[in-house]
Amino acid sequence: MNQEKALVVFSGGQDSTTCLFWAKKQFKEVEAVTFNYGQRHVAELDCAKEIAEDLQVPHHILDMSLLNQLAPSALTRDDEAITQEEGELPSTFVPGRNLLFLSFAGVLAKQISAKHIITGVCETDFSGYPDCRDIFVKSLNVSLNLSMDEQFVIHTPLMWINKAETWEMADRLDALQYIRKNTLTCYNGVKGDGCGECPACELRQRGLNEFLQSNKGGEE
Ligand SMILES: [Zn+2]
Repeated sequence: MNQEKALVVFSGGQDSTTCLFWAKKQFKEVEAVTFNYGQRHVAELDCAKEIAEDLQVPHHILDMSLLNQLAPSALTRDDEAITQEEGELPSTFVPGRNLLFLSFAGVLAKQISAKHIITGVCETDFSGYPDCRDIFVKSLNVSLNLSMDEQFVIHTPLMWINKAETWEMADRLDALQYIRKNTLTCYNGVKGDGCGECPACELRQRGLNEFLQSNKGGEE
């Protein structure tokens, strides 16, 4: 196990919770950071707090409400519906959001003396955010190191895997049932298996079904 400290960018959703379990297996000391930007549902923040507590991970919550000023969208305002046109970014898109989150995570990592930063971004995701791509994360890693004269290592354990494989990883970490029950991915704020109707639930459920079918003979 790596004796150095790690900071996980953590939302309380399936992906970042899987990353938190992953980090706890890899690193002796793990802390988590959650960004509060006026999420559509306060439940998201509560969910993140509960999970951090369950896993006994020190939890930092940073206020990023300025994102609302920069890009009011369906994700942060209750009066707009979430829509996604074929081949376009969803209306929840806040340009550069991950750039900001990862940069702030870098500053926090410096302050808590964490060398490793873990983020659950992924290129196989449906969303196509440019600042979630591998090339961007690598470039920001270099920039963070130059900006603070550090040797940070940004880890992206989910970068090249799909939702079914993320469930498989959760299973290998003995966290499948925990993540299934306690994380929040749903746009309508329903924990666990969610509302079953929004795009986030569909994606999550499809991945879970795919994993469970390929894993017959397992626990379920
Ligand atoms: Zn839902």
